[in-house]
Amino acid sequence: MSITPLMPVYPRCGVRPVRGEHCHLISEDGRRFLDFASGIAVNLLGHSHAGLIGAIQKQAETLMHVSNLYGSPQGEAIAQRLIELTFADTVFFTNSGAEAVECAIKTARAYHQHVGNDHKYELITFKNAFHGRTMATISASNQEKMHKGFLPLLAGFKYLEFNDLEAAKAAIGPNTAGFLVEPIQGEGGIRIASNEFLQGLRALCDEHDLMLILDEVQSGVGRAGTLYAYEQFGIAPDILSTAKGIGGGFPVGACLATEKAARGMVIGAHGSTYGGNPFAMAAIGAVLDVVSDEGFLADVRAKGERLRGRLEQFIGNYPELFESVHGRGLFIGIKLKIEPRAFVAHMRDNHQVLTVSAGDNVVRVLPPLVIDDSHIDEFMDRLSAAAASYQPEEVA
Ligand SMILES: *Cc1c(COP(=O)(O)O)cnc(C)c1O
Repeated sequence: MSITPLMPVYPRCGVRPVRGEHCHLISEDGRRFLDFASGIAVNLLGHSHAGLIGAIQKQAETLMHVSNLYGSPQGEAIAQRLIELTFADTVFFTNSGAEAVECAIKTARAYHQHVGNDHKYELITFKNAFHGRTMATISASNQEKMHKGFLPLLAGFKYLEFNDLEAAKAAIGPNTAGFLVEPIQGEGGIRIASNEFLQGLRALCDEHDLMLILDEVQSGVGRAGTLYAYEQFGIAPDILSTAKGIGGGFPVGACLATEKAARGMVIGAHGSTYGGNPFAMAAIGAVLDVVSDEGFLADVRAKGERLRGRLEQFIGNYPELFESVHGRGLFIGIKLKIEPRAFVAHMRDNHQVLTVSAGDNVVRVLPPLVIDDSHIDEFMDRLSAAAASYQPEEVA
């Protein structure tokens, strides 16, 4: 037998983490890595946060799981906190980001179909978006590498250029149900929507009675320096998907909606066995205890500015390698002049620092939100050693 025990869908590298210590990971072979990837924007409290560990331990001893057939004091309390912190009036808990986007897509379609507008099923999405790996969420993205082998796609998605408001306006037709968009594209390369674009989409939704769905699975939960990125654009969505950081490493997500948007999500319309179980709620509670604090978020913005400032100064030393630095909060992209994967591998294998590549030749810098200046110093030291020693030939 030559297939690996883990279905071979990931190009796994030689780092094999077995333990986490705050902002570092320790590999099976004893090597210690500075983790500025955070499990792709997940471990926002680092790897050994006492509050998160304590909450999960306590919940494990008390009650891990019950069916959604029963009342949920744990779920109601966390939903209420999210409602108070955001635009939302109601919440559906999921186990992943893709499921949160699935629920958002279903909520938008159900909004129209609930009142008999069955023809309004099409969502307009944007090129280089990433919404997950289920059939609906790959259908929502134009990326052919995710479609290959899985055709036919689900019908009802149309892809336009990101940040092109005129195209969005022109694309609205009788079948349009709404827009699905990341306010800051993560996998696409930390590409930030313009204020004009998101405000324009909001106005189009109001004018044509369409649903504005924001996918904040990566940009949310403090990553971009506000609890949700949309707060920085002067708009609110009708529906929002959140996951990744919201459990701090515990697998959980959520679909948030206004009362109006959720009018089709009636009894029997949707479900999930694990969704919102007490274990997951304990994790979200511990994360929100830290991240929903305005002082903490101000600190994330300040740390992001310091890190971006230092990166901007630094990249000028290697004009053949680096092009620019962009981002919000600790959601940072370094745009390279080369394909970034070999450089990410070089930083990892030769300088023990973890980052993630993205589209548009970008290296994503996604540290835990709890870093301090010593971690920024360590990152800059390792990055500058990596840039000094980088030989473009050594392709990993
Ligand atoms: C990661 C991501 C998803 C998918 O989340 P999973 O938990 O991997 O299913 C969806 N949307 C965005 C914007 C993401 O970054």
